[in-house]
Amino acid sequence: MKAMVLKEFCEVEIEQEQRQQPDLPLKKEPLVMVDMPAPQPGPNQILLKVSACGICHTELDEIEGRLIPSHFPIIPGHEVVGKVEALGSDANRFKAGDRVGIAWIHSSCGHCKFCKRGLENLCGQFRATGLDDHGGYAQYMVVSEDYAYPIPDRFSDLQAAPLLCAGVIGYRALRLSGINPGQIVGLFGFGASAHLAIQVARYWNCRVFVFTRKGQRDHQDLAVKFGADWVGATDEMPPERLDCAIDFTPVGEPVREALKFLEKGGRVVINAIRKITPIPELEYSEYVWHEKEIKSVANVTRQDAEEFLPLAAKIGIVPEIREFELEQANQALVLLKQGKMQGAGVLKVSE
Ligand SMILES: [Zn+2]
Ligand SMILES: [Zn+2]
Repeated sequence: MKAMVLKEFCEVEIEQEQRQQPDLPLKKEPLVMVDMPAPQPGPNQILLKVSACGICHTELDEIEGRLIPSHFPIIPGHEVVGKVEALGSDANRFKAGDRVGIAWIHSSCGHCKFCKRGLENLCGQFRATGLDDHGGYAQYMVVSEDYAYPIPDRFSDLQAAPLLCAGVIGYRALRLSGINPGQIVGLFGFGASAHLAIQVARYWNCRVFVFTRKGQRDHQDLAVKFGADWVGATDEMPPERLDCAIDFTPVGEPVREALKFLEKGGRVVINAIRKITPIPELEYSEYVWHEKEIKSVANVTRQDAEEFLPLAAKIGIVPEIREFELEQANQALVLLKQGKMQGAGVLKVSE
């Protein structure tokens, strides 16, 4: 099968002066196309013929060494949509030809104190798709049938892909923010995840203020199109205080801005596994006093995916897609790093 693999850490190419990690070698082509044997499904596993795979910021963290894969080479990709091609022994949840999706959670132990409370995302033996086990930047992949989700009919394969990380994690972030109908949520950054989260927030009758990098008109226009009540730069004072905020950016500064604009008792939820720049010092009386909270979102549980996919179908969420061939994964990652990806990038792997 064809697969795009990561063989070693390197920095994705952008302008020299913007480099974050000058110690890493700069690579034009961080992922390499290889031909390798298709995996075989083990007990309880299904083999998936991949049709589409979403492109996530987390891939940049893996490539640039902020997240460490369990082994090299590794096939990244954790927003995978495909058809069940073959079943391993004892796998009986799906049949051949069923359309399923795979998310970041590839498996967890199932019996620790976290798993028992449904917090599989905090399990010490959590394994991530495309980081610990091969992901969907390939024609085939295997996964335990317990960690695959039926895809609602209303979505095409390409549309469904970004729902599986960007969508599900945005949904978890909204839930963890404690937002109630009528309240104001601030979304910092307006990429793949935020443009899906805003559609859920609007459905819940929340007001949405969107903050983007200064001068990022394309992202601001997209936010307006999806019903944002106000848009501005991350350091711009909004017309009212935020009851809660979700930070979708890869950098540290917006966390402090969000805390500054937050209402008393409000919560800032950080939706990123790694930050490429640190959160600046938080002067206590200005940023933390009055019961303000900061909470991170540690990716997703199966329950999040099982709840969100049918909800997305019910709301009629429309993902904004930018399509790439599997061979174009490197170009797509550069665009993502440059902040030039409109909506969600998706690799079209097969028809
Ligand atoms: Zn992701
Ligand atoms: Zn566990």
